[in-house]
Amino acid sequence: MQGRVGGLTRREFKDLKILALFTSVYCKAHHAGPRSALAVTDPQLSRLPSHQYPVCSDCAGFLGYAFERRLRCPLEEKPACKHCPVHCYKPGHREKVREIMRFSGRHLIRRGRLDLLWHYLF
Ligand SMILES: [Zn+2]
Repeated sequence: MQGRVGGLTRREFKDLKILALFTSVYCKAHHAGPRSALAVTDPQLSRLPSHQYPVCSDCAGFLGYAFERRLRCPLEEKPACKHCPVHCYKPGHREKVREIMRFSGRHLIRRGRLDLLWHYLF
């Protein structure tokens, strides 16, 4: 049933795409620095349209870390991270993720992008 995109399950691929999109939306609203596509080195991410989600260098660092955590998640059935028993994120990271998801979720909803459902993620 579960198709795969590159080396990822569809669910993983979708999670990462949403994370990239939301970080890009957040970055555009908050950071003035030049933005460029996230440099993707992991072959599992080769199908991710990263050029669609430009971020500044700070956000690129954040996103790179978040991707790495997500890809290394040891749990076969991935719970929403807020229900996760592992808590793999470093201190402060989850707060940053939540801030980004909250801001960008509202931002997209105001623009009628309800198709981008986000709250199941974190
Ligand atoms: Zn940024």
